[in-house]
Amino acid sequence: MSYSDAVYSKAYSILESRRNRAVNDAEERKLKIYAEIPRAEAIERELSSCSVKAARAVFAGGNAKELLKLLSEQCKGLRNELEALLLKAGYDKNALEPKYTCPVCEDKGTVELNNKTVTCNCFKELLKECACAEVNSLSPLNLSTFESFELSYYPDEENAEGVNARRRMTQIFNYCKAYAMNFKTDNRSILMRGATGLGKTHLSLSIANELLGKGFSVAYVSAPDILFQLERAHFSYEYEKEQDLISTLTECDLLIIDDLGTEFATNYTNSQIYNIFNNRILRSKPVIINTNLTMKELENAYTQRFVSRVMGTCDKLDFVGRDIRPRKV
Ligand SMILES: [Zn+2]
Repeated sequence: MSYSDAVYSKAYSILESRRNRAVNDAEERKLKIYAEIPRAEAIERELSSCSVKAARAVFAGGNAKELLKLLSEQCKGLRNELEALLLKAGYDKNALEPKYTCPVCEDKGTVELNNKTVTCNCFKELLKECACAEVNSLSPLNLSTFESFELSYYPDEENAEGVNARRRMTQIFNYCKAYAMNFKTDNRSILMRGATGLGKTHLSLSIANELLGKGFSVAYVSAPDILFQLERAHFSYEYEKEQDLISTLTECDLLIIDDLGTEFATNYTNSQIYNIFNNRILRSKPVIINTNLTMKELENAYTQRFVSRVMGTCDKLDFVGRDIRPRKV
């Protein structure tokens, strides 16, 4: 797993500001509490003198056992008294301690595990989020939401194939909303098919926005943009950049590929798209693919193994109706 230096330094700076904020807030709270409950300050002083005495006893060697036991009982008593005072004054019992975003690593990003320093899960999540933010900045997420999706734009009548567009789109809308509301990182993948302007981008962006709000990492990319970038990095020998992009696309909680089939396809892009999709599917990580292509066109544009992998793993949503874009303006 590798990310660019820029992603690492952004994630570190977020971690650092989380930690500083927790410490500063605790300092402020402490001053307020000391002013309100003077005994609290005295107890904290006694507690720290207890620790000094304990350290001294251990350092002096000899039989420190009795003294340490006594000190530990003293500490316990003081802590109980402090907790009771805080609770009585309407604070929680740990009000004097910093409230870290991640209590596991106290916003340091690393933890000790079996005598080894390992990266905390919170920092791994942060790296994913920062990497996605970098990718998403290439195709900015605008504010499409479920609330702004207008089902009334779809005709409430049967088309030549006997499909009522509004009914079909209501089902699709409900499916997408439930998908976002109950999202798990091993959700099903989705293939959204249908002509341009039927709301595929709007609904996939709505899912993206909902998940970003819940703290999931989502990379939203347009197929021509991202494949062009990968290809350019590859053929200018910028392998690290190419690998960073692939890592981000592979690792995020949800990958949304918009406009599949509009890219300039080459052997390189076809094999990359297959590898990224397949790697995610093998690890039960969902992908949403949007395409204007019909089944036949997909088969002509991509390798048989890619198309059958997509068809075999995705829920298929077939968008119908008239191009809704001109009606909105
Ligand atoms: Zn952590």
